[in-house]
Amino acid sequence: MAREVKNKLMEIGAGSVLYLLALCSVRYWDATGGAELFVFLLAYVALTAGIVWQMFKNFRRLHFFDENFLMLLATVGAFLIGKYAEAVGAMLFFQVGKLIEAISMSRTKKSIAKYMDIRPESANRKVGTSEEAVEPSELKAGDVIIIKPGEKIPVDAVVTEGVSTIDMKVLTGEAEPQEVKVGQKVYSGSINLSGLIEARVSKVYAESTASRIMKMVESAGHRKAESENFAERFTRYYTPIVTLLGILVMLLPPMMMEAHDTEIWMYRGLIFLVAACPFGLLISVPLAFLGGIGAASKQGVMIKGSNYLEALSKTETFIFDKTGTLTMGVFHVQEVVPNGITEEELLEITAYGEAYSNHPIAMSLKDAYGLDIDTSRVKDVKEHSGFGVEAVIDGRMVHIGNSKFMNKLGMFYPPAEGIGTAVYVAVDGEYRGYILIADVIRRDARRTIHWLNRHHLEAVMLTGDNERVAEDVAKKLGIEYVYANLMPEDKVVQLEEFMENQLESEKLAFVGDGINDAPVLARADVGIAMGGLGADAALEAADVVLLEDEPSKIINAIRISKGTVRAVKQNIVFAIGMKVILLIMAFFGYVSMQDAIIADMGTMLINILNSFWVIRYPE
Ligand code: ADP
Ligand code: MG
Repeated sequence: MAREVKNKLMEIGAGSVLYLLALCSVRYWDATGGAELFVFLLAYVALTAGIVWQMFKNFRRLHFFDENFLMLLATVGAFLIGKYAEAVGAMLFFQVGKLIEAISMSRTKKSIAKYMDIRPESANRKVGTSEEAVEPSELKAGDVIIIKPGEKIPVDAVVTEGVSTIDMKVLTGEAEPQEVKVGQKVYSGSINLSGLIEARVSKVYAESTASRIMKMVESAGHRKAESENFAERFTRYYTPIVTLLGILVMLLPPMMMEAHDTEIWMYRGLIFLVAACPFGLLISVPLAFLGGIGAASKQGVMIKGSNYLEALSKTETFIFDKTGTLTMGVFHVQEVVPNGITEEELLEITAYGEAYSNHPIAMSLKDAYGLDIDTSRVKDVKEHSGFGVEAVIDGRMVHIGNSKFMNKLGMFYPPAEGIGTAVYVAVDGEYRGYILIADVIRRDARRTIHWLNRHHLEAVMLTGDNERVAEDVAKKLGIEYVYANLMPEDKVVQLEEFMENQLESEKLAFVGDGINDAPVLARADVGIAMGGLGADAALEAADVVLLEDEPSKIINAIRISKGTVRAVKQNIVFAIGMKVILLIMAFFGYVSMQDAIIADMGTMLINILNSFWVIRYPE
């Protein structure tokens, strides 16, 4: 149990026992005068000591005009005019309300911190032929670990022996277990289900997936949405104004009417103060946002703060990177067209040139080559992002890349035919042929674009690839606006142009895979990165991370964000509406102090339930 919850429970327990005793002593033991005051005061002190201490601490930070202040003012006032039982009763219900607040807050945090569950506790390091148990943080890159069935993967690693299935649910939301075999990556925090595997540590604990996700979750609460800040600013002005109004209620009517009304108006003024407590309003806003972040994380969508959740709900334009985002980024070789060398030689040179590149094109070409690469033959590698790579292979200068790259080098080449991405190759300044490769569109990319179109959200595609491929992919997906042949820095320029042309209230999202597009991810109002399990750059630069390579997760994220913002708006309107009604009733003397606080508690409960409901079942 959270500490706040425990503290509140103790205060309420002690307070209600003392309150009952006080009520009994008046009723059955005829306590009056000083004795009566004493027993009620005892209960009151038990209930308020914690709040007073809290206020004292806030006083030094110079903002103490909050709901606690209003409650104390009102109840002390009630004591002064002899309404002891009313004062203690109101305080008791106020504390029960605070308890509900603390419980729902800690529950919501816990549902997000389900991720705290991904913290691996121990690891088995292989030493010689035996193993030793160590802390995950003691592992170093290169160590070999043994992961038994049922165990949590301690750090990110590459399987070196055995096969198994892995439960990735906590990381990606994917319920179906994934099969892994030698050479494949396993991620810390996921669970080894079936087989015994050995794996080589690829990342130390602090840089492994589990730690990074936990860090993201922990910092999510610190970035506040505009509507959260609004609620806080609101109370800063609201409370002093309401206090003043309460005092006016006590003073004005009796001055204007007959003198014997003084006490009634005093009491009504105090009730007015209690009724004015802004407390259901304050809690429901951050609670709804935390709930939204939690709901998204259950689906494998990590949102780094309430502000991004709010921005996502206002996003009208979604700009997609093509390669690796809308397409799989797994290119299949369509044609190998050599010039003066054999097909095998062309493929070999290309694979060697791409030896150190992580670009999806490079990965696919290495796959197509299929043989191991002897990296001692490759020197002086330079990657020209948006163009291609250059390297010295067996002492010969090799350039590999697109037509722009060849143009830049002043190379003569015959333009490739057929739809696809042509990778041109030049050796020692002579054109040596091209390889035509083609990417595969992600199945659920289509669904995503259709959904966006149907909801009148704009989908735009940016790509560094050539126009023909770009148009082809866009047509298949149903994207209207396409910008091709962009360098990574052109993508930023293009994005900024979009941002300048949108309304103040509209936001723009960029969806990419983090390869060659981290600057764009960082620049967009909402940077959404796909496949956060792989790319470090993407995880850092993005505001929202889809842990799996599924663009359609964006649909879930958008729906949750809209649901959250709707819940927040409904809650604010409802809370303020109730407040106004209650204040009017208090003014005319229709509610007691306890009624006022119970009504507020009801408002809060309804808001809490509403948040859960709207977030869980968005339209
Ligand atoms: P996208 O916008 O489609 O994600 P990039 O900006 O990553 O594309 O790359 C743009 C183009 O630059 C690619 O289509 C390719 O022609 C060329 N290119 C980039 N990196 C490489 C590489 N390592 N090898 C060959 N060509 C490359
Ligand atoms: Mg890319």
